[in-house]
Amino acid sequence: MDVYLDYNATAILRPEVITAMQNTFQLFGNSSSVHRAGRKAKSAIEEARERIASVVEVSPAEIIFTSGGTESNNLALSNREIPVFISATEHDSINAVREDSKIINVDVNGIINLEHLEELLSSADRLSMVSVMLANNETGVLQPIQQVVNIARRFGAIIHCDAVQGLGKIPFTFSELGVDMLSISAHKIGGPKGVGALIVKEGIDLPPLLLGGGQERNRRAGTENVTGICGFGVAASLVQSALKQASNLESMRNKIEFEVKEKIPEVTVYGHGVARLPNTSCIGLPDMSNESQIMALDLAGVYVSAGSACSSGKITPSHVLKAMGFNDNAASSAIRVSLGWQTTENDCNTFISVWTDMVKRIFNSNDLCRSVA
Ligand code: PLP
Repeated sequence: MDVYLDYNATAILRPEVITAMQNTFQLFGNSSSVHRAGRKAKSAIEEARERIASVVEVSPAEIIFTSGGTESNNLALSNREIPVFISATEHDSINAVREDSKIINVDVNGIINLEHLEELLSSADRLSMVSVMLANNETGVLQPIQQVVNIARRFGAIIHCDAVQGLGKIPFTFSELGVDMLSISAHKIGGPKGVGALIVKEGIDLPPLLLGGGQERNRRAGTENVTGICGFGVAASLVQSALKQASNLESMRNKIEFEVKEKIPEVTVYGHGVARLPNTSCIGLPDMSNESQIMALDLAGVYVSAGSACSSGKITPSHVLKAMGFNDNAASSAIRVSLGWQTTENDCNTFISVWTDMVKRIFNSNDLCRSVA
């Protein structure tokens, strides 16, 4: 049986979400139409908006539906009038948006250097923006968002947080984080792909990225994806039960780390000693290319990722590990194991035995993938 341990790439769809989405196919109306068919679609969207709003404790009006975490991040950073400071370990949907972004250094665990943030902000000559992620997608390492907020507020900066990997894995609300804008994505919490939200605090002025109709209170034009949004709403309503599962996921994750280290002492677990997501492990084994590891695991029906895979499937050295100070060899030989709502102890045991057997076989034969530059 296949073992899926790649929840940070995407979570397995929740059955409740599938049923809810199937039901929406009868909602054929355009939610902007004033007739009854349109109003029905609109009310399904508003119900989903309320569900999502209640999970992060915001007003429904503060939610802008988007096509996913990538669009939410692009939208948050789109105002080119405002200089932006981002951490060195952000997701590419933040890194790629602004060529003028200034980078905030991180330490060996990937945690933002607060003094450097302060230095950068004090050198800014006008209103600026800080964008720091809640949890890293490759290592699971958490950023001290409240401390970032305390510093950024002293300089009057706008604060955006990419919480795509945090939602459903660690508890938080919008006001606890204290930020002005927050990105979330449905498919990381058991909802459908291609739908997400940017939460924008009332009073924050954000020009739209997509122009056209007046949907989403003129902040994001385009006929809403009713099915996706409803699936997102149902996935959001399952977040509380997902959070109850977190300590179980953490014990399974810890068992994986303990056993692989016991069997292969050369293993490094990145971010091991600091606050991390409970479901994520970034396991490195120098000189053993992650591409070869992933292919060998795939042949055995075990699915994991290298955090740095791009859409073409090509794996490049992880910019996250490089920012943390590791060399190309280390940054090309880490895999990411991420657990989720359907993960069992058996899955974890299968991973441990398949992976350690593979490593021993490769070490013994010494004929594969020890040639990472
Ligand atoms: N931000 C982070 C931290 C992510 O891990 C991802 C997806 O992997 C995204 C943003 C992009 O989200 P989406 O796939 O919904 O576009």
